[in-house]
Amino acid sequence: MSTVQGQANLPNAATAVELVARARAAQQAWAAQTAEQRAAKLRQAQDAVLARAGERAERIGAETHKPLAESYSSEVLGVADLFNYWCKHGPELLKPRKGKVPSLEMPGKSAWVERLPRGVVVCISPWNYPVSLPMRTIVPALLAGNAVVLKPSEITPTPGGWLVDALHSALGDVILVAEGDGAMGAALIGAGPDQVVFTGSTRTGRKVAVACAERGIPCDLELGGKDCAVVLDDAAIERTAAGVAWGILTNAGQNCSGIERVAVHAAVADRFVPALVRELERAAADVPELVTPAQRRIVEEHVRDALGRGAKLLTGELTPPERPLPPLLLAEVDRDAPAWKDESFGPVAVLAIAKDDAALIALANDSRYGLGASVWGSDLERAERVARQVRSGMVWVNNHSFTGALPDLPWVGVGDSGTGVTNSPEALEHLTRPHLLVIDKASAIEAWWYPYGPAMVDLMKTVIDRQRSGGLGATLRTLKALKTRTAEMNRARGK
Ligand code: NAD
Repeated sequence: MSTVQGQANLPNAATAVELVARARAAQQAWAAQTAEQRAAKLRQAQDAVLARAGERAERIGAETHKPLAESYSSEVLGVADLFNYWCKHGPELLKPRKGKVPSLEMPGKSAWVERLPRGVVVCISPWNYPVSLPMRTIVPALLAGNAVVLKPSEITPTPGGWLVDALHSALGDVILVAEGDGAMGAALIGAGPDQVVFTGSTRTGRKVAVACAERGIPCDLELGGKDCAVVLDDAAIERTAAGVAWGILTNAGQNCSGIERVAVHAAVADRFVPALVRELERAAADVPELVTPAQRRIVEEHVRDALGRGAKLLTGELTPPERPLPPLLLAEVDRDAPAWKDESFGPVAVLAIAKDDAALIALANDSRYGLGASVWGSDLERAERVARQVRSGMVWVNNHSFTGALPDLPWVGVGDSGTGVTNSPEALEHLTRPHLLVIDKASAIEAWWYPYGPAMVDLMKTVIDRQRSGGLGATLRTLKALKTRTAEMNRARGK
């Protein structure tokens, strides 16, 4: 059994310690295999994960309220690609790098920088993408030789459970699941893993960071967002409105890089705003109820507060609890209001109008978050210029957020959106540690070893000069200084 189901009454700490220990025991033999061997095993595991994909997509939909189309597009679709990518490119990306060693001053040495697994990686996941998010960590972490203990969200435990069961049947204890709420997450950190990859809210992420810091455990934080779509005055109105509406509403807005703010150039506001309202209203039928009543209350509070401060609703209304929230678009929102400043995580966005590019960029950057952003316009040079000035981990020109499903591209934020990287070769920086191996074949006693003397100081001066200026003259002076220093050392040793 890979899960700890049925052991719910055991204290979390004991369960967490047991799981981390089991993972650690299995990890050593796993890490001793070559990356190619691990890739071959992961390819077998891929089949187990993707078997019965249709049934599983339906189950994900039932637990997360996702429309079936989104269960397929955002949860199941990318999984095969993720395995393909890492199994194909992982072994190459993990190859040791030959380090540079100056052969004149340090002859006979070769240096290798290897990427070694960290050991046991604890992956703590949120509920909004219960399969695709943990998989972005699990597949490269395993390929790199780690073992993984997954803690799925208590709100959506089933997909994480079957995911791990499928992987466990092919790979054994290098992949385990710990069911439970935040207390189990905290207990897993307390059990002393070698790396924590946390995806969730900024508030919990701060607690995780502190708990990891206290134990000296490196941690990756993928946190909340408040993405802004910047609409320039040469944007293609219909396509931009359709794309921004999708960015606001996908997964009912419960998307870390959901568009929650829209900054529109004044010159196109009278055409763009009605087009966006039309698109939001058209999409309403495909927007499900939020996953929890608590999440819905946050959205409602943001909207009520904004309206109380004088904002206007351009579309939608606060519906009674038995009806799903429709798409909501607010304008003239106070920039101190939670609806502008805090993550809402629902089918709601705030819209502001600005007169030029500089003012649009200022609107986009008026946030403590920095996950994604998008810039929409026809002049691509200008759009790119604007994109480079928006403070975010990712920026898409004329699209939004879709790259989460592409394993070669980093998913990354700044500021309150966290410090982590998932997907892409860059994620390996976090899932492995650099390890230096140096082999010395030199037979002579090194010039910088004892005993010291004036020739050593001269040699150091010459080497510094060579480093600064280079050139044949400096090299010849270094050779001469080395010879003098060798003679000095020989004399001191009575040779
Ligand atoms: P959350 O922070 O409430 O919970 C996330 C996970 O942390 C859950 O598994 C939970 O059980 C666990 N947890 C809670 N307290 C803990 C503690 N003290 N120690 C360890 N683990 C603990 O987040 P959520 O509501 O499940 O998810 C929504 C949030 O996740 C949003 O803010 C969203 O933006 C963010 N998110 C970010 C990304 C990203 O890639 N940046 C992706 C998806 C979701």
